[in-house]
Amino acid sequence: MLSVHACPLAKLGGRDSGGANVYVRELARDLGARGIEVDVFTRWREPGDPRIQSLGPNARVIHIESGPIGYLPKMQVYDRLEEFTARLEEHVASEGLRYDLIHAHYWLSADVARRLSARWHVPVIQMFHTLGLVKREVMDEDIDGESDLRIDIERAAVRTSAAVVAASEIEATELRDLYDADDARMRIIPCGVDPVVFHPIRQADAREATHRDQCERIILFVGRIEQIKGIDVLLKSLGLLFFRRPELRSEVCLLVVGGALDPGEDAPETEKILELRRLVHDNRMEDNVDFVGSRDQEQLALYYAAADLCAVPSLTESFGLVALEAMACGTPVVGTRVGGLQTVIEDGESGLLVPAGDYQALAEAIARVLVDHRLRIHLAHGARQRAEGFTWHAVGEQIVALYESVLEKVEV
Ligand code: UDP
Repeated sequence: MLSVHACPLAKLGGRDSGGANVYVRELARDLGARGIEVDVFTRWREPGDPRIQSLGPNARVIHIESGPIGYLPKMQVYDRLEEFTARLEEHVASEGLRYDLIHAHYWLSADVARRLSARWHVPVIQMFHTLGLVKREVMDEDIDGESDLRIDIERAAVRTSAAVVAASEIEATELRDLYDADDARMRIIPCGVDPVVFHPIRQADAREATHRDQCERIILFVGRIEQIKGIDVLLKSLGLLFFRRPELRSEVCLLVVGGALDPGEDAPETEKILELRRLVHDNRMEDNVDFVGSRDQEQLALYYAAADLCAVPSLTESFGLVALEAMACGTPVVGTRVGGLQTVIEDGESGLLVPAGDYQALAEAIARVLVDHRLRIHLAHGARQRAEGFTWHAVGEQIVALYESVLEKVEV
């Protein structure tokens, strides 16, 4: 498995680490438990990490040095892919390994997969997690200046991979319409959630554990602090909510989980938090909004359970694990009608959907869930039931079936 930028053991919620890391970790563990030997190759980012780490039975992470150990912006990771590939091959040779197939995650890995597959003569299965052309449609600016190159690499991967995995019908449509993906080589396999970590917990207990007893109503946001996650839209909608319903100002807390609060950890993200704090200040919401920083998933389960609703205001989302995790904890989601969110959340049954970027609709939907107790109970129940259908085990099963069908074709 190639996951150049997303180490499956990385601390989550910071810049460039989120759903893809979780996906690779959970899938590798599930495949390993089935007796499939999996090595995940990723760029060495944490100085304290050993070169090789176990993920569980039959599954390992192998850190490959390319450039300095530490965070690098994606384009600088790209510039060092040749070095990454060469070091990876050295490692493979040193252990005398041979792989049957390559499963690549994200566009950076697609480029390495192309080089390795040509030398090893093994098929590639590609999953993008996000697509450059989709991101380009919704973003004001292209922060990393990566787009043209990224899109070329994505197009080449769509053309040459033995199979492409899409996380939702919507992503499959985007691949078809924007990248001319061929249906015969595409599989829609939704993501999963770990029910042992994410399950309902009594709200009072969760509030005590997270020291939030003083909040009457809690709105939760979880994710990387980036424009694409719609956090600005959420803050604007909260300002509108308080303007329209001033009585809620003394009752509602918004907890923002994710991101680096300390500039030492990640300066650009901390800058984004500073910008958001100004928005909070302009709307006189200092007493209502708390930037918590990132949390591990065990703690996150407590935050989901403590909340009355989880807001997922993303501008685009290939799947949206946060929504599914909140639902598994029995917390209704108010999300945007984009990507995987609209296939996971059934509007009015397991959450509410609003158009992306529409802060007025978001404020209205949040108000409905907060003030209508019966609706909240109905959605909480629906959310839990809906989440039961999505497990990592089911993802593993479908991925194995895909591997088998791809390998059968190779052998013929
Ligand atoms: N996450 C976490 N701690 C945080 C913030 C996020 O563990 O402080 C995890 C969260 O549980 C989820 C993932 O990061 O599994 C985010 O995935 P999602 O698909 O929602 O967004 P992505 O990062 O892929 O855009």
